[in-house]
Amino acid sequence: MKSVIVVGAGIWGTSLALRLAETGWQVTLVEQHKPGHVRQSSAGETRLLRCSHGSDDWYARLAWQAREGWLRLSERAGEELYIEAGMVWFARTPDGWEHASAQVLKNLDIGCEVLDPSDGGRFFPEFRGDDLSFLLWEPSAGVLRARRATQVTAALAKDAGVRLVRGRATPVPGDGTRYRSAVEIDGETHHADRVVWACGAWLPRLFDGLPITVTKQDTLHFAVPSAWSLPETPAWVDHGASAYGHGDVDGTGMKATSDAEGPPYEPEHGSRAVDPDSVEQARGYLRRRFPGLADAPVLFSQVCQYALTPDAEWLLTEISPGVWVLGGDSGHGFKHGPAWAGYVAGVLDGAYEPEPRFGDHPRTPSRGLRTSGQTW
Ligand SMILES: Cc1cc2nc3c(=O)[nH]c(=O)nc-3n(C[C@H](O)[C@H](O)[C@H](O)COP(=O)(O)OP(=O)(O)OC[C@H]3O[C@@H](n4cnc5c(N)ncnc54)[C@H](O)[C@@H]3O)c2cc1C
Repeated sequence: MKSVIVVGAGIWGTSLALRLAETGWQVTLVEQHKPGHVRQSSAGETRLLRCSHGSDDWYARLAWQAREGWLRLSERAGEELYIEAGMVWFARTPDGWEHASAQVLKNLDIGCEVLDPSDGGRFFPEFRGDDLSFLLWEPSAGVLRARRATQVTAALAKDAGVRLVRGRATPVPGDGTRYRSAVEIDGETHHADRVVWACGAWLPRLFDGLPITVTKQDTLHFAVPSAWSLPETPAWVDHGASAYGHGDVDGTGMKATSDAEGPPYEPEHGSRAVDPDSVEQARGYLRRRFPGLADAPVLFSQVCQYALTPDAEWLLTEISPGVWVLGGDSGHGFKHGPAWAGYVAGVLDGAYEPEPRFGDHPRTPSRGLRTSGQTW
């Protein structure tokens, strides 16, 4: 039986552990805290799922497969991990990112509809769209209950035979290779056929020279009247303004927040208090788009971190024989969890080589895959 140690029980590590255990691998999953702990990126209360990725169709296909994965996982878990409330994209120009997205979705037969800004009232109790060129409605998009989904995936992995070990793993230097296919925890060395370091924002501390920058991201949810709840009020993204959000889920309030990169951040000890400027930014956006919510009080906030690569493409690279780094999610990796795990499992099985886009090579800065067209 092939063996693997996966380090990191965020959504990427837990999804991979589950997938490998279900396809015949002996899996150990190592986590320094607990699956769903609040420092990990996967512990955001909610995450958006969308197939639109501008002109890129690789991630659009992956997101569509992942959507099916989330629906299946919800059925297995007996709870709604994915709320398919749809998403409205606010397009500022007729031929920009949203136009390219619509073309790709149409080519892939993924439902979408181009609407006039005056149709905004169909989706929001109050809407100002006089600065917009059109709306792109993506009905199969929606919102994941992210933290819960991470815990559920970890529990399913355990049921599938994954051994969950609590501890902080460190790489083991090799003889003649950079690293051995092993990890060290509390002075003890554990070997496996493969080791996968799925450590999110902690990766740059573990391995020198990775093309990953870690930034602090403040997330805000506002107290709103009940009409602003999911699924009636769907998810929304203003790519040109790097702003996104969704209607209230489970009483946590309406999310309205920025996808623009925050300041450099250290995920283990960095402050988890949101910056007052982030509140003002979000409020400024609400004032412009949903004016009646401009004075809504902050109900809930979270600090999270992005592990950004310059081009927002992920990193899946073998740094020594059998030793893989899986990271650089760039703030858009959650939704893909189940489908991405299937892809990575194929690479570990030797069924195919990873796409060159995931390699550790010089990268050209681009934000095209993120929901961040510019800063506020
Ligand atoms: C504010 C914000 C909004 C986002 N919005 C979206 C969205 O709408 N849609 C979307 O698809 N994605 C979104 N993302 C991105 C998404 O959350 C991430 O892509 C995803 O959670 C990454 O998961 P991960 O498993 O790689 O990392 P993490 O969830 O951070 O997990 C890494 C784990 O590794 C563990 N670890 C690290 N080092 C060690 C060690 N040495 N030993 C043991 N354990 C270790 C950590 O404790 C941690 O639990 C957003 C991210 C943020 C911050």
